[in-house]
Amino acid sequence: MAAPAIDYLSGLNDAQREAVVQLNGPVLMLAGAGTGKTKALTCRIAHLLATKSARPDEILAVTFTNKAAREMKTRIGSLTNGVSEGMRWLGTFHAICVKQLRRHAELVGLKSSFTILDTDDQLRLLKQLVRAADIDEKRWPPRMLAGIIDGWKNKAWMPSQVPVDEASAYDGMGVELYTAYQQRLKDLNACDFGDLLLHMVTIFQTHADVLENYQRWYKYILVDEYQDTNVAQYLWLRLLAQGHKNICCVGDDDQSIYGWRGAEVGNILRFEKDFPGAHVVRLEQNYRSTGHILGAAAGVIDANRNRLGKTLFTAGEDGEQVRLIGHWDGEEEARWIGEEIESLQRGTRGLDPIPLNSMAILVRASHQMRAFEDRFLTIGLPYRVIGGPRFYERLEVRDAMAYFRLAVSQDDDLAFERIVNTPKRGLGDKAVQTIQMTARSNGVNLVEGARMCVEGGLIKGKGGNALRELVQGLDRWNQKLRGPLVRVNENERLVVIDDDAGSVAAEYEYGPPEITHIELAEMILDESGYTGHWQNMKTPEAPGRLENLKELVNALENFENLQGFLEHVSLIMDNAKEDEGDMVTIMTLHGAKGLEFPAVFLPGWEDGIFPSQRSMDESGLKGLEEERRLAYVGITRAERHCTISFVSNRLIFGRWQSQMPSRFIDELPEEHVEVLTPPGLYGGNFGAAGMAAQANPASDGMASDLHERVASADVYNSPGWRRLQQRSQQRPMSQSKESRSMTIDMTATSS
Ligand code: ATP
Ligand code: MG
Repeated sequence: MAAPAIDYLSGLNDAQREAVVQLNGPVLMLAGAGTGKTKALTCRIAHLLATKSARPDEILAVTFTNKAAREMKTRIGSLTNGVSEGMRWLGTFHAICVKQLRRHAELVGLKSSFTILDTDDQLRLLKQLVRAADIDEKRWPPRMLAGIIDGWKNKAWMPSQVPVDEASAYDGMGVELYTAYQQRLKDLNACDFGDLLLHMVTIFQTHADVLENYQRWYKYILVDEYQDTNVAQYLWLRLLAQGHKNICCVGDDDQSIYGWRGAEVGNILRFEKDFPGAHVVRLEQNYRSTGHILGAAAGVIDANRNRLGKTLFTAGEDGEQVRLIGHWDGEEEARWIGEEIESLQRGTRGLDPIPLNSMAILVRASHQMRAFEDRFLTIGLPYRVIGGPRFYERLEVRDAMAYFRLAVSQDDDLAFERIVNTPKRGLGDKAVQTIQMTARSNGVNLVEGARMCVEGGLIKGKGGNALRELVQGLDRWNQKLRGPLVRVNENERLVVIDDDAGSVAAEYEYGPPEITHIELAEMILDESGYTGHWQNMKTPEAPGRLENLKELVNALENFENLQGFLEHVSLIMDNAKEDEGDMVTIMTLHGAKGLEFPAVFLPGWEDGIFPSQRSMDESGLKGLEEERRLAYVGITRAERHCTISFVSNRLIFGRWQSQMPSRFIDELPEEHVEVLTPPGLYGGNFGAAGMAAQANPASDGMASDLHERVASADVYNSPGWRRLQQRSQQRPMSQSKESRSMTIDMTATSS
């Protein structure tokens, strides 16, 4: 006898149940964060299976990430006693399209064994084409072309479909190179990520029989996070659903945060037009967050003009207010959050202990992670970084570190191999082999080998010149690191120091370095051409790489010299832990979509970081409104505790910069926010670090340092902090409302 079905309907509210049992025809669930959209979608699938309306492989279910797909499958499995086995078409758009395309590859000129290029391969291919077309790569970096082509693919434009007003793209060569690129891919029996969808859309549009087959096969279609679909995905879905129209989409226009990657929130707003007679279900009860957290999130998103507007309520308690705190700088912010996490873990403020797995730090830009990683490693707090490598494992950070290592020691052959042709110096494999052979046969390190190759004329021409420059640079940086040789004994004759023999003459020694190790690091990155290499890239991810480089330089601030820093990093790399056990999660706001955590920290709420500088520079509100939706996504990830923080000073490229609290902070309704006094100030709410500093200012180098700074400097005298202080005194409510609408006006005019 089959195991009894689990009563999945009883855990739902009326509106959710309606969306679950209304199996036929188009259904749209348009509702705010945490209202149980994903839960309802999951139950709907369980219902389809339990009622035998469809077999597992007749259901097409699209999620935003592979992780979400796995979780959904597990949940359906437990709701149906394992009937979900065989749900072959549950996955991301890409994962599903790969499966389809393998079956029909020949229709677009590919074999079913086609390979999928990663972004590096894609770029290499494009570079070859750009070179063959004799285009100035400096002015028109191939990465830029990659970005343009991706954008077109997201819009489902084959080369022949790119509209005329885009024809000027990439110096007027965009479309031509796009055509050539598609041809190259075909010759190689390959496709890129964008192609997976584009090819399937093309096949559906040109082969009615194939489309009809799929339309019949997928009896039911379900899509989560529909607000973030791009045009190609939208077309693909619409084509598939056109037969039976059994399509159920769920989403939230307020959580549309991938506009920069081609997502069109209009897709969700148009649903009722695309599918006339659609059953629209609105959910208003939020089950995730406490009242204060919801109130704070609502206040922020309210400031957006372009939205449908929805109300959310919770039947649960108000809970703790959203906590807001300003810090002196980013290191202090990381330190404070580390302490907070540890006290939450132990149980604080009369709360039950919260495991680390239930806490997350959500950052706007991945370079913000560095300060937290450093801090957590120092205090031994386990953490995991989701959605990307840890800071010190990132490509650009490792490149830069290789330069630093060489400045410290020219014996570091691995570092030399890494950077000899990064940025491009015209040194191909052959040149590198020559250097290696020369070094080996002379028993010297690669830098020395390179020097011999240049001097002996083994490597000539452009590459030779560039190599000479590199070697000279390495000598210069090494010299700057050690300081100039100064004469100790004035009266003595000049003795030349013979380093190789290990005998340093007594008369001379290295004086103090003329520049700090931070200045040196900047100099190395500049003079080596590495910073310029990323500045010249006009691709979407280049600014992020530059920010990481700046953050790397900032990290040096905490160390006395470059050597100490390099040691610290090598220890970090050693400590890299497995991704299991009880750990705090560090991830970007974008990556956190759909997730929930009992305690959430949202650091770096400063204008220029969040909202990002780019969104503020843009004309119009589009970018800013997308940032605001991201703020809404961030706050609504929190179940019970939400802490927002900002700093007065940030180190940008080794220089202090005064920061203004984010304009989004002004939009947080006061009644839902508790402004905390930073540690060491005004005797208010102290974090543990502040407490320690108060009790014994000399007990901890860092804390007493903070104490000094607080005492001596006008730490919290930044205009932004003053504004906040004023605000927290601006009660009662009627007054604060006024001040709120004023700040919103200000925001509108200044953006
Ligand atoms: P988001 O917009 O952030 O993706 P969502 O609308 O998909 O949110 P879910 O993740 O499905 O929301 O649900 C949020 C939380 O509320 C989950 O922990 C879920 O288990 C719970 N939940 C959903 N519906 C109910 C309900 N009817 N009764 C109790 N808890 C519920
Ligand atoms: Mg969801």
